[in-house]
Amino acid sequence: MTVEKIQIETLVVGGGQAGIAMSEHLSKQGISHLVVEKNRIAEAWRTGRWDSLVANGPAWHDRFPGMEFKGGDPDAFIAKDDVAQYFVDYVREFNLPVRTGVEVKSAVRNHGRPGFTIETTDGVIEALNIVAATGPFQKPVIPPIAPRDSAIHQIHSAKYYNPQQLPEGAVLPPGMNPVAVQHLPADIRLDYLDAFGAAIHAAFLMAAGIMAVAFVLSWLLKEAPLKTATH
Ligand SMILES: Cc1cc2nc3c(=O)[nH]c(=O)nc-3n(C[C@H](O)[C@H](O)[C@H](O)COP(=O)(O)OP(=O)(O)OC[C@H]3O[C@@H](n4cnc5c(N)ncnc54)[C@H](O)[C@@H]3O)c2cc1C
Repeated sequence: MTVEKIQIETLVVGGGQAGIAMSEHLSKQGISHLVVEKNRIAEAWRTGRWDSLVANGPAWHDRFPGMEFKGGDPDAFIAKDDVAQYFVDYVREFNLPVRTGVEVKSAVRNHGRPGFTIETTDGVIEALNIVAATGPFQKPVIPPIAPRDSAIHQIHSAKYYNPQQLPEGAVLPPGMNPVAVQHLPADIRLDYLDAFGAAIHAAFLMAAGIMAVAFVLSWLLKEAPLKTATH
């Protein structure tokens, strides 16, 4: 491990999509900066999501400025590993200054002079500005309504990767989140649904309705003659 002390104008903590987007914007503005990521670029997309996740929106929409997804079909929904690879390629394409495997341990505002002193696993960084791009979904939330001592096997989506983790039997994914909407049809055998009868079919209809609205909104975003804001 190298232990060094560096000075930089802006330190971006986190190499997920927010940190990489920030780096691209800072580069365009000519602002010197460094992105540090404790794991790998786009780690949340690699290991923090279930195996069959695809992006919520089509490739033409869910991309960053200046680079298309590889593969050529703008209407495709990109699989999570390809999303992660896209961010790696993006960093390479725009030569963004990202250091992986470096964790920020603390950041303290300097006394009597501007900026911050930041301790990392790779040394100390002095920066005038810090951007915290450490992600919005770090802690799984389990609502109090879920019985803690239940004999029913329970798993949070943060720990769910594929149906092989589940014991035999019917499955109830509560909520109309991406896990529920994407996984009922894709991952979990449809005959499990018989156990829930009308209620689950009603949930399916709601999900289908939500997806139809999302599809129309996504089409409108693409086709509607919106003005582009300039400043
Ligand atoms: C289940 C699910 C499905 C989603 N599907 C989509 C989708 O289809 N399309 C879409 O656009 N968005 C989707 N999102 C939202 C998307 O994941 C987030 O918007 C996105 O990951 C947020 O990017 P981020 O860079 O803010 O955070 P993250 O991707 O979480 O990145 C934060 C990074 O910071 C790093 N980090 C944290 N602490 C430190 C530290 N102390 N030092 C150094 N590095 C650190 C982490 O390792 C991580 O890589 C989904 C989210 C979830 C939970």
